[in-house]
Amino acid sequence: MDGAAGLITADPDDSQRAAAEHWAATASLLADFDGTGATADGHLVPLLANVGGAKDAVAAAKLNAQGVGLFRTEFCFLERDTEPTVDEQAAAYKGVFDAFPGKKVVLRTLDAGADKPLPFLTDATEPNPALGVRGYRTDFTTPGVLERQLQAIARAEQESEADVWVMAPMISTAEEAARFATLCAEAGIKTPGVMVEVPSAALTAEAILREVGFASLGTNDLTQYAMAADRQLGPLAALNTPWQPAVLRLVGLTVEGSAAEGHNKPVGVCGEAAADPALAVVLTGLGVSTLSMTARSLAAVAAVLKTVTLAEAQELAKLALSAPSATEARAWVRAKLPILEELGL
Ligand code: PEP
Ligand code: MG
Repeated sequence: MDGAAGLITADPDDSQRAAAEHWAATASLLADFDGTGATADGHLVPLLANVGGAKDAVAAAKLNAQGVGLFRTEFCFLERDTEPTVDEQAAAYKGVFDAFPGKKVVLRTLDAGADKPLPFLTDATEPNPALGVRGYRTDFTTPGVLERQLQAIARAEQESEADVWVMAPMISTAEEAARFATLCAEAGIKTPGVMVEVPSAALTAEAILREVGFASLGTNDLTQYAMAADRQLGPLAALNTPWQPAVLRLVGLTVEGSAAEGHNKPVGVCGEAAADPALAVVLTGLGVSTLSMTARSLAAVAAVLKTVTLAEAQELAKLALSAPSATEARAWVRAKLPILEELGL
């Protein structure tokens, strides 16, 4: 099983067996992440962790994550039929903030719907849940839940020392971003942001980033929507890869939008793309400022990133963008990163 590539091979042949054995023998060569993500020439790229609650956050801090780039708050309440109280929420959020005193923690408001239904927010009878009332859109049908969540976040923040940033999932327009920023300001939250995971948000990043302080690219959903390929369907896996040149272009457009008019608002990546060491180099070359991933991947991403200069990463980004297919983009970039072979990645 190759979790990084999302592949299970039921009946491996000799060369696949040998590759797995090589990986097992070299995995231990990977040094622990030392807590500073950077390219060979010292361009800093903070490496953050994706977490679903306090337990994950404590584990990520032990692996030297530089903060949290995505706290999926819905994971705290997946078993719930009813809305958690403000007190319950504040306690759950504080558990994560307390693992990172003085560090950045980017919390995402409830992303209910599609693959993560929450009975108190989502309608299980929708014909197309991935295109339905999910993420920020649940505020259209169940007003009040978002405001109460923001109150809980503000309370937890006051009681902790983390640098808390708050972002909304599934933002599609600048108007939505503006309303989210207003709600955050009313709750006393200083740094509002959005996830860019709908192609319309990437295409209008300049207008969206006029309204909020930062953006984080959710490449899992951005890929499924750019490719019109349900991320839960195995037969569509070849379409559903962030190596698709179309997805890389949307990443590039988001970064360009963020730099327009001298805004220079930070744009990170928190989808699974950031955990692929070769793609992490490409994303850095495209200009993203932070990479957030499952904590297990921090060491591999850090090890590969520090073998290239920023200029080399930019060249690799150009190479990937010029590829006619996802397969070639991946193969061309990987061929220029010999460290991957050395480390069995
Ligand atoms: C994403 O869509 O890339 C993302 C990080 O959000 P999730 O995987 O939780 O939908
Ligand atoms: Mg998403």
